[in-house]
Amino acid sequence: MSGIPGVMRAALLRDFGALDVAEVPTPVPGPGEVLVRVRACGICGTDLKIVGGAYRGTWPPELPFIIGHEWSGEVAALGTGTGHSGLTVGDRVVGENHTGCGACPRCRTGRYNLCERVREPGFRLYGHTAPGALAEYAVRPAVALHKVPEGVSHLAAALVNQGALTVHATRRARLGPGASVAVFGPGLLGLLMLQVARAAGATTVIMVGRGGRLTAARELGCTATVDYEREDPVPAVRAAAGGRGVDCVFDCSGNPAAVGQLLRSVRRGGTVALLGLAGGAVAELPVDLVTLDELDVLGIRSSPNAYPAMIALLASGAVRTEPLTTHTYPLADVAAAFGALARREAIRPILIP
Ligand SMILES: [Zn+2]
Ligand SMILES: [Zn+2]
Repeated sequence: MSGIPGVMRAALLRDFGALDVAEVPTPVPGPGEVLVRVRACGICGTDLKIVGGAYRGTWPPELPFIIGHEWSGEVAALGTGTGHSGLTVGDRVVGENHTGCGACPRCRTGRYNLCERVREPGFRLYGHTAPGALAEYAVRPAVALHKVPEGVSHLAAALVNQGALTVHATRRARLGPGASVAVFGPGLLGLLMLQVARAAGATTVIMVGRGGRLTAARELGCTATVDYEREDPVPAVRAAAGGRGVDCVFDCSGNPAAVGQLLRSVRRGGTVALLGLAGGAVAELPVDLVTLDELDVLGIRSSPNAYPAMIALLASGAVRTEPLTTHTYPLADVAAAFGALARREAIRPILIP
C-alpha cells in the first residue's frame, strides 16, 4: 500500500483495567475490505465495561485488543474486490460494527444485527470481537462503510454510531407525528434520542436525569425535564404527559433498577424501548402491569439499516452535535479521556488519533 506506514499507534488493552498507546503493525485490507484512516473515535460506557473486564472472554475474546466502535475517518486504501463499493481513497466515511453473514434467516430479513452466526468463528463485531478503531488505522468490510457529506464534521460523524441506534429505536417503537416520549438517561445516547424522537414527530419529549445534563437536554429541544434526585420520576413524567403517561419510554440509562419506573411511566398500551446495556445485571419485572396494560417491551440492539438516515439528520441540521463533542483528546491522552468519562465530566470524550 503506497504511502501507508507499516506501523501505527493504537490504544492497546493489554490487561483489564488499563490501556496504553503502543506501536502495532498497520492492518492490511483483505478481499472486500477497506483501510480507513481514523480521524475521530469516541469512547462510551460499553468501552468502560470492556476495559474493566465486565465481558471478559467474550468482548474481547483475547488480549491484547484494540477497542473503539464510535468513529469516523477517511478511506486510505482499498482491498481487492471493492471495485463495486462506490468508495475511493479520500472518501469520508463511518462504519457499522455489525456485519452479518448475509445468509442466515435473520440476515435475509435485513436484521443483520441479530445474525444467527454471531457466535461462530468468522463473525465480527468490530471493537468487541474484532479490532476496533482507537488507532490511527482500521480495516472494515466495504459493505459496512457509509459515506459522509462535507457538511458533517469528523467529530459529528463520530456520533453516527450512537445516533443510528436511536433511529433504529424510533423505528422499532413505531414513533410517529404527535407522539409523547420520555427519555431516561441524558448521556450522549439520550441527548441524541431526544433529538431523533423530535425529528420523527414526537411533540412532547420529557428527559429524566440529574444535574447539568438536564440543562443540555433543554438546549437540545426537550419539552420538560425531571430530576429524579428531587422528585419521583413516575408521577412527574405522567403529569408532564397530561396525566396519562407517555406513548413511549426510551431507556438510555442501562440502569436495571429503573425498569419498574420505565413501565409505570407509559400509558396503557404504551411502549418501553431498552437501549442501554446493564453489564449483566438483572431487573424485576411487574408482570401484571405488563400484561394488563398490554405494554410492549422492546430490546434495541445496534443499528441495522439506520446509518444513512442518521447521516441525513446530521447533514440537514435536524440533530445538533456541538454541545455533545466538547471534549477531545490526542490518542496519547486515552487514560485522561477514560477518566473524564468515568467521572461524568464529558458527555462523550473523543480521541483524535
Ligand atoms: Zn458505544
Ligand atoms: Zn447472518
